[in-house]
Amino acid sequence: MDYTNLIAGSWENTSDGCANVNPSDIPDVIGMAALSETADMDRAVASARTAAADWAQATPQMRFDVLDFIGSEILARQAELGQLLSREEGKTLPEGIGEAARAGQIFKFFAGECLRQTGDRLASVRPGVEVDVTRAPVGVVGLITPWNFPIAIPAWKIAPALAYGNAVVLKPAELTPGCAWALAEIISRSGLPEGVFNIVFGKGASVGQHLVDHPDVDAVSFTGSVPTGRAIAAACAKTLKKVQLEMGGKNPMVVLDDADLDLAVAACLNGAFFSTGQRCTASSRLIVTEGIHDRFVAALTTAMQGLKVGNALEAGIQMGPVVDARQLEQNLSYLKIAADEGGTVIGGERLTLAQEGFYMAPALVSETSNDMRINREEVFGPVASVLRARDYDEALALANDSAFGLSAGICTTSLKQASHFKANAEAGMVMVNLPTAGVDYHVPFGGSKGSSYGAREQGSYAAEFYTRVKTAYTLP
Ligand code: NAD
Repeated sequence: MDYTNLIAGSWENTSDGCANVNPSDIPDVIGMAALSETADMDRAVASARTAAADWAQATPQMRFDVLDFIGSEILARQAELGQLLSREEGKTLPEGIGEAARAGQIFKFFAGECLRQTGDRLASVRPGVEVDVTRAPVGVVGLITPWNFPIAIPAWKIAPALAYGNAVVLKPAELTPGCAWALAEIISRSGLPEGVFNIVFGKGASVGQHLVDHPDVDAVSFTGSVPTGRAIAAACAKTLKKVQLEMGGKNPMVVLDDADLDLAVAACLNGAFFSTGQRCTASSRLIVTEGIHDRFVAALTTAMQGLKVGNALEAGIQMGPVVDARQLEQNLSYLKIAADEGGTVIGGERLTLAQEGFYMAPALVSETSNDMRINREEVFGPVASVLRARDYDEALALANDSAFGLSAGICTTSLKQASHFKANAEAGMVMVNLPTAGVDYHVPFGGSKGSSYGAREQGSYAAEFYTRVKTAYTLP
């Protein structure tokens, strides 16, 4: 087995394994990942529970040193880790290396946060009494991650969990075990006491569910699809666990008549199709006002059709393959549904290239209305639809008419409308003249409505989830 579980400081083999397939070149099996059983998860949780008390007492310097080591090694090895990432997930090599570097930067940021943990001392309303408000670790946290950011998402959950003094059990995505294992291997050499970090590979429905249901887990942070997230929230309620969910998006990008056309096309090309559209923040609904609509669709179509699709590891490739056969099938079926519902589909063909991979051309669906399924449901592929709007007011109403609320963008040269949009877009993140995807790591990440649930991730706001607030009163 190439990707084995790390439990209580030991690498453990399982009898069953699951192949890690390169979506750019299907015969290329990168490695085999453990297919764990619930008993493995029980031991990982027990290991985290045993190690949690000492780690909660670790000094800021000890925590800093561990996180700084991990961040430094990831940054030093970003080219190699990025290559592994692109090979197993299918995003282009520059995107893969960029994501690996991001993971390193996240650990560096939270290394610094170890030294910046503060509390409040207040005067009591009672004479002579002192009040201290401090943050304490939650305890054992279960982390469940998706395949589309196989190193950055584990990093932005593990780093704050450790920085704020928690013990961790990670259940990474089945499709991308390589990056998770590489990260675990670095963590195992970081000086972190044994058992504080544990990783268990396997199926979401078995070991993932077991982690969520486990009575000895105090909190669960999940990123993935809406149905899984809803089920996890319900399960956590039963055992009164703290829970944080980051789920899907159907992110609008409004393009107004006064937009800089080249900038708008570049932002939508990036937002819709980069990383093969497999980003929860992808620009999937392009809402365009009448005066610029036809010019915008023509220019975006030309730019989209110029994208070089192919093997993620080859130089010059701008869009890699879809992650697997199931996701490819889902993308193609949404294009059929969109056409059946009256949309005009441009591109989106299944591509046969020199290597056998899950390739498709990027697709734009024009002449759509917001009640069509292509505009209500997340596709999670290189597919964007275009909606016409009479004016800014209608564009804003269309943008907000969604069950999701992760990221919303606007392209305009009007400061007045940009300001109004920032204040009134129903989304956790708003972008002006920028793609809906692409965020910083030192500020909060998350959405509203069906996209997110619970406290925000990333930046110093991560403390909300990974700590419990304690209020202490003293009469000296
Ligand atoms: P998924 O929900 O199928 O799986 C996510 C993780 O949950 C995997 O590790 C999986 O094994 C696990 N899982 C599945 N069933 C489980 C269960 N019953 N109990 C516990 N764990 C379980 O999602 P996916 O297909 O891996 O990822 C794609 C989805 O992730 C998309 O919908 C995308 O929008 C979303 N996503 C959201 C964000 C965000 O921050 N909002 C970021 C990236 C991806």
